Amino acid sequence: MATELPRTDVVVVGLGAAGGVAVLPLVNAGLEVVGLEAGTWLAPADFAPDELRNNYRGWPQAVQKANREIPTHRPTASAPPSPRLAIHPMMNAVGGTTLHYWAQSWRLNPWDFKVVSETRRRYGASRIPRGSTVEDWPFGLEELEPFYDKVEVELGVSGQAGNIRGAIDRRGNIFEGARARAYPMPPLRGTGFTNMMAGAARSLGWHAFPGPAAINSGRYQNRSACVYHGYCARGGCHVSAKGSTAVTTIPKAQRTKRLNVVTEAHVIKVDVDRNGRATGVRYVKDRTEYIQPASVVLLASYVYENVRLLLLSTAPGFPRGLSNNHGQVGRHYFSHNQVSTVNALFPRDLNAWYGLPAQGVAVDNWADDNFDHAGLDFIGGGNLWVYSDRRPIAAASMSTFGRAPRWGAQWKAFVTENADRANTAYLQKTTLPYEDNYLDLDPSVKDPLGYPVCRITAEYKDNERKVADFVQDKMIDWYRAAGAIATEKTPLGTMGPTTHAYGGTRMGDNADTNVVNRWGMSHEVPNLGILGASVMGTSGSRNPTLTAQALAWRTADYLTRNWQTITA
Ligand SMILES: Cc1cc2nc3c(=O)[nH]c(=O)nc-3n(C[C@H](O)[C@H](O)[C@H](O)COP(=O)(O)OP(=O)(O)OC[C@H]3O[C@@H](n4cnc5c(N)ncnc54)[C@H](O)[C@@H]3O)c2cc1C
Ligand code: SF4
Repeated sequence: MATELPRTDVVVVGLGAAGGVAVLPLVNAGLEVVGLEAGTWLAPADFAPDELRNNYRGWPQAVQKANREIPTHRPTASAPPSPRLAIHPMMNAVGGTTLHYWAQSWRLNPWDFKVVSETRRRYGASRIPRGSTVEDWPFGLEELEPFYDKVEVELGVSGQAGNIRGAIDRRGNIFEGARARAYPMPPLRGTGFTNMMAGAARSLGWHAFPGPAAINSGRYQNRSACVYHGYCARGGCHVSAKGSTAVTTIPKAQRTKRLNVVTEAHVIKVDVDRNGRATGVRYVKDRTEYIQPASVVLLASYVYENVRLLLLSTAPGFPRGLSNNHGQVGRHYFSHNQVSTVNALFPRDLNAWYGLPAQGVAVDNWADDNFDHAGLDFIGGGNLWVYSDRRPIAAASMSTFGRAPRWGAQWKAFVTENADRANTAYLQKTTLPYEDNYLDLDPSVKDPLGYPVCRITAEYKDNERKVADFVQDKMIDWYRAAGAIATEKTPLGTMGPTTHAYGGTRMGDNADTNVVNRWGMSHEVPNLGILGASVMGTSGSRNPTLTAQALAWRTADYLTRNWQTITA
């Protein structure tokens, strides 16, 4: 028998990037909120610069829910399953993956909201890749801008604006959409290496600029400035300079006394009544099952779990899963192509042992639709990003660029000489949704509670391969201009479980092709909202989190303004 708890206004499932932001506008509007989080609180002492633990052993050890339900993957419906990942990249803790993410905090480009209409207008309808289910977003960047702004201020984002209300500032990204005001803090400082790369970009006639990061470049809201020691890619920040929701929006919401955070609460189902309205959620804590009744349910448990929870929440009115009577849950899934990159070898030390991945320099000339695609056979592009961050194990795993064997004395000599002379770019590229790339429940692999894990069926298509090739060539040009003596492309990789997953509960006005409406609320279950990149229909050429957070704030804001109608 499950224990039924007192009713709350809103229950939020997952207090990570998206859920951790949404709670603040909800409590500020006077609503009572219960946040159910599978993980625990982590303390600054848990954030040690331990590469082995953080990057190879699946930190944190406290709660390993994600690692016990790693999605399976197969490239196509008829292909055999790919080898399963050993660790899940995402995090179970209050703050979710914002504890150990890189904290690059990009806004999308205006084009990303209008891929279909802009491509048709500029190049003709035939240029939308065959089989792609991409749609325009139901609104443009200007509608999300105020929410980007709110999140940047609450988390503390450092950066250099490139376009304030239409006035272009060449110190920032000249391709970005108009912003209402500057970032709350100036950008993180450059390093000798990133400054050299910025100069090389300029020598090619390209525009280089420092990228935005949810990391304090100075003291901000009583949190320390970054001390640039690194080890926070998959490790947390021991001085709270990183604007994780665990040190920003969640504690701020708690101070109102209207947010009740329940840790180690593993949600297993959303309940609905005979009228098709959500009545609350069920969760397991300490082997006991609880029912948390709520007027509104918000799922914020990352893409794979958002989809899985809906598919597991079958009910008489929803035999194929909650909000899935149109068969859209799990569809329009895509994982950002960030793997195919470029390695470079320089003839001198780069002094890159110090620094963090969000401290870098970007080039956006080849991103999105910032360049003319008329003579090309793909749409989209990539953000070129180089940064200072080097850790011992990763450094020793460096490529030998065909100049030494991969083992033995010659390998050791090569690594000793070149460990600080190599660099790998981070190239995020446009990735589109396709008809035959989707998520569903695995028919045979289950988690420890006996529920099927999420199954990914997806592969990169022609457009993604061509974008990757093009963007890698541009990166090679950039490295060569900076004096690299060897470069190599790395392969495209597969579309297995990823830190940049999108879709599965896409947002759009058409209920036949989308799970949630333009406000992030289900088309089929009026008091169920979905937060996170699962609602995003395009990826752009940059990380998803700030956009997912801005959307989460917008959904929460909509809820508070329409509370009576939604809960009637
Ligand atoms: C190493 C790394 C680097 C990254 N760098 C960047 C970057 O620089 N910039 C960027 O934009 N993005 C980055 N990302 C991606 C970013 O972390 C995600 O986009 C973001 O965290 C997703 O937000 P979310 O709220 O959907 O999921 P999460 O932040 O993962 O939060 C989901 C929360 O839900 C909880 N949960 C899951 N299932 C349940 C359940 N059944 N019941 C209760 N709770 C549950 C989890 O414990 C978790 O706390 C990075 C990710 C990784 C791993
Ligand atoms: S490099 Fe900066 S953000 Fe990273 S752990 Fe150190 S202080 Fe924190």
